Amino acid sequence: MAVLVVGGAGYIGSHAAHVLRRKGYDVIIYDNLCTGHKELAEGFELIVGDIADTAKIAKVLTRCDSVMHFAAHAYVGESVQNPKKYFHNNVTAALTLLDTVMESRVRKFIFSSTCAVYGNPVKVPITESNPRQPVNPYGATKLAFENALEAYGRAYALRFVSFRYFNAAGADESGKIGESHDPETHLIPLIFQAAQGKRAALDIFGDDYPTADGTCIRDYIHVTDLAEAHVAGLEYLAKGESAAMNLGTGEGCSVKDVVAAVERISGSKVPTHIAERRMGDPPELVADPSLAEKLLKWKAKRSLDEIISTAWKWAQKRTS
Ligand code: UDP
Repeated sequence: MAVLVVGGAGYIGSHAAHVLRRKGYDVIIYDNLCTGHKELAEGFELIVGDIADTAKIAKVLTRCDSVMHFAAHAYVGESVQNPKKYFHNNVTAALTLLDTVMESRVRKFIFSSTCAVYGNPVKVPITESNPRQPVNPYGATKLAFENALEAYGRAYALRFVSFRYFNAAGADESGKIGESHDPETHLIPLIFQAAQGKRAALDIFGDDYPTADGTCIRDYIHVTDLAEAHVAGLEYLAKGESAAMNLGTGEGCSVKDVVAAVERISGSKVPTHIAERRMGDPPELVADPSLAEKLLKWKAKRSLDEIISTAWKWAQKRTS
């Protein structure tokens, strides 16, 4: 029986598919390719379809014993401008997927959630007991689905893991897959564009935050570490357990730390420009990852330097 990787042609889903295969799992990728890339699913069975296509999902579920759901819209700014798109896909269509799963024999479900469910944290590092009060529609849609999983888990014996990702970054060591969004809004790919002369400068969104160097602090976690947590999540589900947990490193890096690491690793100067704060950016988001470490016997192993060097290799390849 296979693991159905829904959204497996996207950034995080494709890395999960690769790690699953390396660990000996059979994988089927299901993706509507609206933001995913066919190339990222190369070498895998790819079924092109929408998560709301009940008949298509039901058919493939007969060959699966677990589902990982990565297929969601994930731009905070866009979710503010166009909440309808976010609620329709991340909640309504996702619930259709979940109900189709409930009509099958599959009872193991792993969900890509986000630290955005916490909104502005009460305390950093953030533990899972921090109140979940999202401050944007994107976070609200992820919280809605987390709530559905908890209720379905209690009522229908569904086993689930909700993984609250901090900042996923980096690329697979193979250099074959990596991050590519259109439009690109994420820090590391944008720093590379500045380093490669594809944009005049990186806009640093605010240097007057109450942090050591005035720029925002985030917890950057290597996408392969995230992918490995998903495999550990499957093993956890196999024991009959369910939980929601943070996936982060527990270490914070400022925007200026990341720029400095890119300059060191790429050997290129990164022109920067101090811009206005971006709306809705909390000064510091760092995970307390101890729950995942305890429950999954998993720990993020890769450093910021490995994040940058693997992502840089991928970025170079794409432009060569
Ligand atoms: N950031 C920045 N300039 C950019 C893009 C991002 O200064 O062009 C900052 C942003 O304010 C945040 C951090 O980099 O503090 C990470 O942003 P990203 O959009 O990559 O992820 P987020 O934390 O929003 O999920």
